[in-house]
Amino acid sequence: MWGCKQKATTKQAHETPDDLKRHSEVFNKRIEKVGENIFVAIGYGLANSILIEGEDSTIIVDCMESMEAGAEVKRAFDSLCPKPLKAIVYTHFHTDHTSGAKALAGNAQPDVYAQELLPHHLDQTAAVVRHITEKRSYRMFGVFLDEVAHVNCGIGAALRIKKGSELGVLRPTVTFSDSLDVVIAGVRLKFYHAPGETPDQLMVWLPETKTLLCGDNLYKAFPNLYTIRGTGYRDVNLWKSSLDKMRYLSPEVIIPSHTEVIRGAEKAQQILTDYRDAIQFVHDQTVRGMNKGLTPDELAEAVVLPEHLQRSEWLQEFYGKAKWSVRTVFDGYMGFFDGNPATLLPLDKTTRAKNIEQLAGGKQQLQQQIALAVKNENYQWALELTDHYLSLYPSDKTVLQNRIQALMALGNAQSNPNARHYLITCALELQGLKNDGLIAPTPELVRDIPLSAIFNGMAAHLNPEKSADVHQRVLFEFTDTKAVWTVEVRRGVAEVQPFKTAKPDITVQVKETVWKEMLAKIRKPVPTFLSGEIKVDGGQIALIKFLKLFDVDE
Ligand SMILES: [Zn+2]
Repeated sequence: MWGCKQKATTKQAHETPDDLKRHSEVFNKRIEKVGENIFVAIGYGLANSILIEGEDSTIIVDCMESMEAGAEVKRAFDSLCPKPLKAIVYTHFHTDHTSGAKALAGNAQPDVYAQELLPHHLDQTAAVVRHITEKRSYRMFGVFLDEVAHVNCGIGAALRIKKGSELGVLRPTVTFSDSLDVVIAGVRLKFYHAPGETPDQLMVWLPETKTLLCGDNLYKAFPNLYTIRGTGYRDVNLWKSSLDKMRYLSPEVIIPSHTEVIRGAEKAQQILTDYRDAIQFVHDQTVRGMNKGLTPDELAEAVVLPEHLQRSEWLQEFYGKAKWSVRTVFDGYMGFFDGNPATLLPLDKTTRAKNIEQLAGGKQQLQQQIALAVKNENYQWALELTDHYLSLYPSDKTVLQNRIQALMALGNAQSNPNARHYLITCALELQGLKNDGLIAPTPELVRDIPLSAIFNGMAAHLNPEKSADVHQRVLFEFTDTKAVWTVEVRRGVAEVQPFKTAKPDITVQVKETVWKEMLAKIRKPVPTFLSGEIKVDGGQIALIKFLKLFDVDE
């Protein structure tokens, strides 16, 4: 018996799209006053922004997802408290907590506090996995959906990013490793490293009022132990331990960076305990089953939360899902291979599709099975069959239509907004929606990305076919910052080093800002070359050919 499988038929208290609609109340737009001197902006975007009023100035914890969302919160805060901004604290690197910082700061030059791992994660997202992370985030947050399809984001009203949105991140100016005690504007604060939803997560403790700002390690929805927009492994044991740190502080008020404020020591203790228990349960029961040889598919069915946790208002699956969590725990320990020999050397996609077609009795019969699955409302099965069919006949209009129908129907039936938005957006993409990068990079944004992230990101874009016979070394000398980098393409691999490795074939001398703006497409390459701002020893044409070995995100 696995977990509480005997109670597997127990329905969660909330699990229909109507319940998701009711959940929208959590995000009614408001500024909530907490105690004497804290104001929480809720419902202005995806996350909360928290203002702490000090003697002569203020502190803001978390900064919204875009300049426009940040600007709106700033107006609201300014009308309540006109004191100047002294400090910003990021609970972690995610866009919805950092990207409205410049708007919130306005003309002020605040100190910016963060845990020391934040810059690395910020840059990794910006330079290495930006393209795919953005695309999948826009699906998951439903940024292209109308208000019928988009109910809320589970942890917030909506992600306020649209075409041309600008991100205004301020780089941290003060970082720490484990903890940091500070007094800012006469307010005593203690920052603790609290890895969980992200490795750089911190929590803010105000000892005088026993108030805890818990970042994204707790919100009114099942924790997103895995996020479907894609993430490295979220260490669920560390997340649980961070919740334990919170419990043993015995907070009287908890202000999460999403959803609502928890008031009262007893309630806070109960919610924290349930939350950490849910995480430990998923972890322990997955590991237990894993050790008995169960695969992720089997575990996702077998591990079912105890009934009292299923009923908790703070564990409804409006953001994370237990089934996804089980899979991520397995993956965190065991990696991709589920242990089943049949999945070790799988057939390639086309061969499998051909075999399925044959099994169905031919192309027409497979098509009929798909239509039948849609008619019978077996949408998931329809989706799986269309995968096979469309990998053989990708432009078949009827089956594409079947797939769209299945995605729409499945999506609209979901109460988990991430699943709902993802499925519906994929349907719209098949109908022609262009899921493009919405964010306009600004010179400041690209200036702040370190060269290490830019060159490592570049290496991961090398086209192996184009570079199969190339062995070439290019030295970059940045005239304004004096940084020196070598990129050596060696038949399918680009080695990057932050120094001169050996005699280069091509030497480029350019200002770091100019180079970054060209890569970010803020400047066009041809006029930049013609303007003489890039000096090339070894031939401009040769350099352009070299750069074309790398794919460009479209
Ligand atoms: Zn967040």
